[in-house]
Amino acid sequence: VAKGDGKNSWRRYRTDVHSGVVERLELRASLHEAAAAGQFVVRYQPMVELDGAHVVGLEALVRWEHPVRGLLGPDQFIDLAEENGAIVAIGNFVLREALRTFSAWRGTAAGQALRYVSINVSARQFRTPGFVDQVRDALAAAGARPEWLVLEITESLVLRDAEKVWADLRELRSWGVRIAIDDFGTGYSSLSYLRQMPVDILKIDKSFIDDILHSAEQLALVEAIVHLARTLKLAVVAEGIEYQEHHDVLLRLGCPYGQGYLFGRPLPPAEVSVLLATAVGV
Ligand code: C2E
Ligand code: MG
Ligand code: MG
Ligand code: MG
Repeated sequence: VAKGDGKNSWRRYRTDVHSGVVERLELRASLHEAAAAGQFVVRYQPMVELDGAHVVGLEALVRWEHPVRGLLGPDQFIDLAEENGAIVAIGNFVLREALRTFSAWRGTAAGQALRYVSINVSARQFRTPGFVDQVRDALAAAGARPEWLVLEITESLVLRDAEKVWADLRELRSWGVRIAIDDFGTGYSSLSYLRQMPVDILKIDKSFIDDILHSAEQLALVEAIVHLARTLKLAVVAEGIEYQEHHDVLLRLGCPYGQGYLFGRPLPPAEVSVLLATAVGV
Protein backbone atom coordinates (compact mmCIF):
# COMPACT_ATOMS: atom_id res chain seq x y z
CA VAL A 1 0.00 0.00 0.00
CA ALA A 2 1.36 3.40 -0.98
CA LYS A 3 2.21 5.62 1.97
CA GLY A 4 1.95 9.39 1.98
CA ASP A 5 -1.55 10.47 1.15
CA GLY A 6 -3.26 8.37 3.78
CA LYS A 7 -6.83 7.29 3.36
CA ASN A 8 -7.06 8.09 -0.33
CA SER A 9 -4.24 5.79 -1.36
CA TRP A 10 -5.73 3.00 0.76
CA ARG A 11 -9.08 3.45 -0.92
CA ARG A 12 -7.41 3.46 -4.32
CA TYR A 13 -5.52 0.28 -3.44
CA ARG A 14 -8.73 -1.45 -2.33
CA THR A 15 -10.43 -0.37 -5.55
CA ASP A 16 -7.54 -1.70 -7.66
CA VAL A 17 -7.55 -5.07 -5.92
CA HIS A 18 -11.31 -5.25 -6.22
CA SER A 19 -11.35 -4.39 -9.92
CA GLY A 20 -8.58 -6.96 -10.51
CA VAL A 21 -10.76 -9.66 -8.99
CA VAL A 22 -13.81 -8.53 -10.95
CA GLU A 23 -11.78 -8.44 -14.15
CA ARG A 24 -10.65 -12.02 -13.65
CA LEU A 25 -14.19 -13.16 -12.92
CA GLU A 26 -15.37 -11.47 -16.10
CA LEU A 27 -12.57 -13.01 -18.15
CA ARG A 28 -13.31 -16.44 -16.75
CA ALA A 29 -17.01 -16.10 -17.49
CA SER A 30 -16.40 -15.23 -21.15
CA LEU A 31 -13.80 -17.93 -21.96
CA HIS A 32 -16.22 -20.52 -23.36
CA GLU A 33 -17.92 -17.93 -25.52
CA ALA A 34 -14.57 -16.58 -26.69
CA ALA A 35 -13.50 -20.05 -27.79
CA ALA A 36 -16.74 -20.52 -29.71
CA ALA A 37 -16.32 -17.07 -31.28
CA GLY A 38 -12.79 -17.84 -32.49
CA GLN A 39 -11.02 -15.17 -30.44
CA PHE A 40 -7.89 -17.25 -29.81
CA VAL A 41 -4.84 -17.07 -32.06
CA VAL A 42 -1.52 -18.87 -32.11
CA ARG A 43 1.98 -17.38 -32.16
CA TYR A 44 5.07 -19.43 -33.06
CA GLN A 45 8.47 -19.11 -31.40
CA PRO A 46 11.52 -20.55 -33.15
CA MET A 47 13.42 -23.37 -31.44
CA VAL A 48 17.00 -23.65 -32.65
CA GLU A 49 19.97 -25.95 -32.76
CA LEU A 50 22.45 -23.98 -30.65
CA ASP A 51 25.41 -25.02 -32.79
CA GLY A 52 24.68 -22.83 -35.80
CA ALA A 53 21.38 -21.37 -34.57
CA HIS A 54 19.31 -23.08 -37.27
CA VAL A 55 15.57 -23.18 -36.70
CA VAL A 56 14.55 -26.80 -36.11
CA GLY A 57 11.10 -26.39 -34.60
CA LEU A 58 8.40 -23.99 -33.49
CA GLU A 59 6.58 -23.70 -30.17
CA ALA A 60 2.91 -22.81 -30.47
CA LEU A 61 1.84 -20.21 -27.88
CA VAL A 62 -1.77 -19.13 -27.54
CA ARG A 63 -3.06 -15.53 -27.32
CA TRP A 64 -6.55 -14.19 -26.73
CA GLU A 65 -7.66 -11.37 -29.03
CA HIS A 66 -10.08 -9.88 -26.54
CA PRO A 67 -12.56 -7.53 -28.23
CA VAL A 68 -12.26 -4.93 -25.43
CA ARG A 69 -9.02 -5.63 -23.56
CA GLY A 70 -6.80 -6.27 -26.57
CA LEU A 71 -4.25 -9.06 -26.93
CA LEU A 72 -3.99 -11.13 -23.74
CA GLY A 73 -1.15 -13.55 -22.96
CA PRO A 74 -1.66 -17.06 -21.56
CA ASP A 75 -0.56 -16.03 -18.08
CA GLN A 76 -3.74 -13.93 -17.91
CA PHE A 77 -6.20 -16.70 -18.75
CA ILE A 78 -4.84 -20.27 -18.87
CA ASP A 79 -5.31 -20.82 -15.13
CA LEU A 80 -8.89 -19.49 -15.39
CA ALA A 81 -9.55 -21.78 -18.34
CA GLU A 82 -8.25 -24.71 -16.30
CA GLU A 83 -10.66 -23.79 -13.51
CA ASN A 84 -13.81 -23.76 -15.61
CA GLY A 85 -12.85 -26.35 -18.21
CA ALA A 86 -12.62 -23.96 -21.18
CA ILE A 87 -9.03 -25.18 -21.55
CA VAL A 88 -10.37 -28.28 -23.31
CA ALA A 89 -11.87 -26.25 -26.18
CA ILE A 90 -8.99 -23.76 -26.28
CA GLY A 91 -6.37 -26.52 -26.17
CA ASN A 92 -8.08 -28.48 -28.92
CA PHE A 93 -8.22 -25.34 -31.04
CA VAL A 94 -4.47 -24.77 -30.58
CA LEU A 95 -3.72 -28.39 -31.43
CA ARG A 96 -5.72 -28.32 -34.67
CA GLU A 97 -4.66 -24.84 -35.71
CA ALA A 98 -0.94 -25.35 -35.01
CA LEU A 99 -0.85 -28.75 -36.77
CA ARG A 100 -2.70 -27.39 -39.79
CA THR A 101 -0.39 -24.37 -40.04
CA PHE A 102 2.73 -26.47 -39.49
CA SER A 103 1.70 -28.94 -42.20
CA ALA A 104 1.30 -26.07 -44.64
CA TRP A 105 4.81 -24.78 -43.82
CA ARG A 106 6.27 -28.27 -44.12
CA GLY A 107 4.82 -28.48 -47.60
CA THR A 108 6.80 -25.44 -48.79
CA ALA A 109 10.44 -25.55 -49.90
CA ALA A 110 11.44 -23.16 -47.10
CA GLY A 111 9.74 -25.25 -44.40
CA GLN A 112 11.05 -28.68 -45.33
CA ALA A 113 13.88 -28.56 -42.79
CA LEU A 114 11.46 -27.98 -39.90
CA ARG A 115 11.31 -31.03 -37.69
CA TYR A 116 8.47 -30.37 -35.29
CA VAL A 117 5.83 -28.13 -33.78
CA SER A 118 5.74 -28.15 -29.99
CA ILE A 119 2.35 -27.70 -28.32
CA ASN A 120 1.62 -27.01 -24.65
CA VAL A 121 -0.98 -29.27 -23.08
CA SER A 122 -2.37 -28.45 -19.67
CA ALA A 123 -2.99 -31.16 -17.10
CA ARG A 124 -6.76 -30.82 -17.20
CA GLN A 125 -6.79 -31.03 -21.00
CA PHE A 126 -4.59 -34.12 -21.00
CA ARG A 127 -6.69 -35.85 -18.37
CA THR A 128 -10.02 -35.17 -20.08
CA PRO A 129 -11.30 -38.45 -21.55
CA GLY A 130 -10.87 -38.44 -25.32
CA PHE A 131 -7.66 -36.40 -25.40
CA VAL A 132 -5.68 -39.09 -27.23
CA ASP A 133 -8.47 -39.32 -29.82
CA GLN A 134 -8.39 -35.55 -30.26
CA VAL A 135 -4.68 -35.74 -31.04
CA ARG A 136 -5.29 -38.53 -33.55
CA ASP A 137 -8.09 -36.53 -35.21
CA ALA A 138 -6.05 -33.32 -35.31
CA LEU A 139 -3.11 -35.12 -36.95
CA ALA A 140 -5.40 -36.67 -39.55
CA ALA A 141 -7.25 -33.42 -40.28
CA ALA A 142 -3.96 -31.59 -40.80
CA GLY A 143 -2.36 -34.37 -42.83
CA ALA A 144 0.49 -34.23 -40.30
CA ARG A 145 2.87 -37.05 -39.43
CA PRO A 146 3.00 -37.93 -35.70
CA GLU A 147 6.78 -37.35 -35.82
CA TRP A 148 6.10 -33.66 -36.43
CA LEU A 149 4.35 -33.27 -33.11
CA VAL A 150 5.87 -32.64 -29.68
CA LEU A 151 3.51 -32.32 -26.71
CA GLU A 152 4.80 -30.22 -23.78
CA ILE A 153 3.49 -31.36 -20.42
CA THR A 154 4.45 -30.58 -16.84
CA GLU A 155 6.20 -32.70 -14.25
CA SER A 156 3.15 -32.65 -11.99
CA LEU A 157 0.98 -34.25 -14.69
CA VAL A 158 3.40 -37.16 -15.04
CA LEU A 159 3.43 -37.63 -11.27
CA ARG A 160 -0.31 -37.65 -10.62
CA ASP A 161 -2.53 -40.58 -11.70
CA ALA A 162 0.62 -42.03 -13.14
CA GLU A 163 -0.89 -45.23 -14.50
CA LYS A 164 -3.56 -43.73 -16.77
CA VAL A 165 -1.38 -40.80 -17.84
CA TRP A 166 1.59 -43.04 -18.57
CA ALA A 167 -0.57 -45.40 -20.63
CA ASP A 168 -1.74 -42.45 -22.75
CA LEU A 169 1.81 -41.15 -23.09
CA ARG A 170 2.97 -44.59 -24.23
CA GLU A 171 0.21 -44.77 -26.81
CA LEU A 172 1.07 -41.32 -28.22
CA ARG A 173 4.77 -42.22 -28.32
CA SER A 174 4.00 -45.51 -30.08
CA TRP A 175 2.73 -43.44 -33.02
CA GLY A 176 5.89 -41.31 -33.08
CA VAL A 177 4.63 -38.28 -31.12
CA ARG A 178 7.30 -37.00 -28.72
CA ILE A 179 6.74 -35.82 -25.17
CA ALA A 180 8.61 -32.93 -23.56
CA ILE A 181 8.64 -32.00 -19.89
CA ASP A 182 8.18 -28.22 -19.81
CA ASP A 183 9.74 -25.99 -17.16
CA PHE A 184 11.93 -28.89 -16.08
CA GLY A 185 13.60 -28.35 -12.72
CA THR A 186 10.75 -26.43 -11.13
CA GLY A 187 8.72 -29.50 -10.15
CA TYR A 188 9.34 -32.44 -7.89
CA SER A 189 10.13 -35.41 -10.05
CA SER A 190 12.71 -37.66 -8.48
CA LEU A 191 15.63 -38.81 -10.54
CA SER A 192 14.78 -42.49 -10.29
CA TYR A 193 11.26 -41.70 -11.46
CA LEU A 194 12.55 -39.68 -14.38
CA ARG A 195 14.46 -42.70 -15.63
CA GLN A 196 11.20 -44.60 -16.14
CA MET A 197 9.02 -41.79 -17.44
CA PRO A 198 7.71 -42.17 -20.98
CA VAL A 199 9.21 -38.87 -22.17
CA ASP A 200 11.70 -37.77 -24.83
CA ILE A 201 12.72 -34.18 -24.14
CA LEU A 202 13.53 -31.99 -21.12
CA LYS A 203 12.99 -28.23 -21.42
CA ILE A 204 15.14 -26.45 -18.84
CA ASP A 205 13.11 -23.66 -17.26
CA LYS A 206 14.03 -20.08 -18.02
CA SER A 207 14.65 -19.37 -14.31
CA PHE A 208 17.75 -21.61 -14.49
CA ILE A 209 19.11 -19.80 -17.54
CA ASP A 210 18.55 -16.29 -16.13
CA ASP A 211 21.43 -16.60 -13.64
CA ILE A 212 23.97 -18.77 -15.42
CA LEU A 213 26.24 -15.82 -16.17
CA HIS A 214 26.39 -14.68 -12.54
CA SER A 215 25.97 -17.77 -10.42
CA ALA A 216 28.38 -20.70 -10.43
CA GLU A 217 25.74 -22.81 -8.63
CA GLN A 218 23.13 -22.13 -11.28
CA LEU A 219 25.63 -22.93 -14.01
CA ALA A 220 26.47 -26.21 -12.28
CA LEU A 221 22.77 -27.11 -12.07
CA VAL A 222 22.21 -26.51 -15.77
CA GLU A 223 25.31 -28.54 -16.57
CA ALA A 224 24.00 -31.35 -14.37
CA ILE A 225 20.64 -31.35 -16.18
CA VAL A 226 22.38 -31.47 -19.56
CA HIS A 227 24.47 -34.45 -18.43
CA LEU A 228 21.44 -36.14 -16.88
CA ALA A 229 19.54 -35.79 -20.15
CA ARG A 230 22.42 -37.28 -22.09
CA THR A 231 22.68 -40.22 -19.68
CA LEU A 232 18.95 -40.90 -19.96
CA LYS A 233 19.09 -40.43 -23.76
CA LEU A 234 16.69 -37.50 -23.64
CA ALA A 235 16.96 -34.40 -25.80
CA VAL A 236 17.35 -31.15 -23.89
CA VAL A 237 16.19 -27.63 -24.73
CA ALA A 238 17.13 -24.48 -22.81
CA GLU A 239 14.38 -21.84 -22.73
CA GLY A 240 14.65 -18.09 -22.14
CA ILE A 241 17.96 -17.49 -23.97
CA GLU A 242 18.15 -13.70 -24.19
CA TYR A 243 21.84 -12.90 -24.61
CA GLN A 244 24.68 -14.06 -26.79
CA GLU A 245 26.57 -14.91 -23.58
CA HIS A 246 23.77 -17.32 -22.58
CA HIS A 247 24.10 -18.95 -25.98
CA ASP A 248 27.89 -19.25 -25.65
CA VAL A 249 27.76 -20.80 -22.18
CA LEU A 250 25.05 -23.30 -23.11
CA LEU A 251 26.98 -24.34 -26.18
CA ARG A 252 30.06 -24.90 -24.05
CA LEU A 253 28.03 -27.05 -21.64
CA GLY A 254 26.92 -29.18 -24.57
CA CYS A 255 23.26 -28.18 -24.54
CA PRO A 256 22.08 -28.98 -28.08
CA TYR A 257 18.86 -26.96 -28.40
CA GLY A 258 17.39 -23.67 -27.21
CA GLN A 259 14.85 -20.95 -27.65
CA GLY A 260 14.55 -17.37 -26.47
CA TYR A 261 14.30 -13.76 -27.52
CA LEU A 262 17.90 -13.89 -28.82
CA PHE A 263 16.68 -16.11 -31.66
CA GLY A 264 13.14 -14.86 -31.98
CA ARG A 265 9.97 -13.87 -30.16
CA PRO A 266 6.67 -15.66 -30.61
CA LEU A 267 5.57 -14.54 -34.09
CA PRO A 268 2.30 -14.40 -36.00
CA PRO A 269 2.16 -16.94 -38.87
CA ALA A 270 2.88 -14.41 -41.63
CA GLU A 271 6.15 -13.44 -39.95
CA VAL A 272 7.14 -17.07 -39.52
CA SER A 273 6.84 -17.53 -43.27
CA VAL A 274 9.29 -14.66 -43.78
CA LEU A 275 11.65 -16.07 -41.15
CA LEU A 276 11.62 -19.50 -42.78
CA ALA A 277 12.43 -18.09 -46.17
CA THR A 278 15.59 -16.54 -44.74
CA ALA A 279 16.71 -18.49 -41.66
CA VAL A 280 16.03 -22.21 -41.76
CA GLY A 281 19.13 -24.33 -41.68
CA VAL A 282 19.36 -27.57 -43.59
P1 C2E B 1 6.14 -21.96 -21.60
O1 C2E B 1 5.55 -23.11 -22.32
O2 C2E B 1 7.26 -22.25 -20.67
O3 C2E B 1 6.56 -20.96 -22.75
C1 C2E B 1 7.64 -20.08 -22.67
C2 C2E B 1 7.19 -18.69 -22.33
O4 C2E B 1 8.35 -17.86 -22.19
C3 C2E B 1 6.34 -18.01 -23.41
O5 C2E B 1 5.48 -17.07 -22.78
C4 C2E B 1 7.39 -17.28 -24.24
O6 C2E B 1 6.88 -16.19 -24.97
C5 C2E B 1 8.31 -16.82 -23.15
N1 C2E B 1 9.69 -16.63 -23.62
C6 C2E B 1 10.32 -17.29 -24.60
N2 C2E B 1 11.59 -16.85 -24.74
C7 C2E B 1 11.76 -15.90 -23.80
C8 C2E B 1 12.88 -15.06 -23.44
O7 C2E B 1 13.96 -15.12 -24.01
N3 C2E B 1 12.67 -14.19 -22.41
C9 C2E B 1 11.47 -14.09 -21.76
N4 C2E B 1 11.36 -13.20 -20.77
N5 C2E B 1 10.42 -14.87 -22.07
C10 C2E B 1 10.56 -15.76 -23.09
P2 C2E B 1 3.93 -17.00 -23.09
O8 C2E B 1 3.70 -17.13 -24.58
O9 C2E B 1 3.41 -15.80 -22.40
O10 C2E B 1 3.37 -18.31 -22.43
C11 C2E B 1 3.40 -18.48 -21.03
C12 C2E B 1 2.99 -19.87 -20.63
O11 C2E B 1 1.62 -20.11 -20.95
C13 C2E B 1 3.75 -20.98 -21.37
O12 C2E B 1 5.00 -21.17 -20.77
C14 C2E B 1 2.80 -22.14 -21.22
O13 C2E B 1 2.97 -22.76 -19.97
C15 C2E B 1 1.44 -21.46 -21.24
N6 C2E B 1 0.84 -21.61 -22.59
C16 C2E B 1 1.08 -20.94 -23.73
N7 C2E B 1 0.32 -21.38 -24.75
C17 C2E B 1 -0.42 -22.40 -24.24
C18 C2E B 1 -1.40 -23.29 -24.81
O14 C2E B 1 -1.74 -23.27 -26.01
N8 C2E B 1 -1.96 -24.20 -23.94
C19 C2E B 1 -1.60 -24.28 -22.62
N9 C2E B 1 -2.17 -25.20 -21.85
N10 C2E B 1 -0.67 -23.47 -22.07
C20 C2E B 1 -0.10 -22.54 -22.88
MG1 MG C 1 6.06 -24.64 -23.34
MG1 MG D 1 8.58 -23.76 -20.71
MG1 MG E 1 7.82 -21.51 -18.62
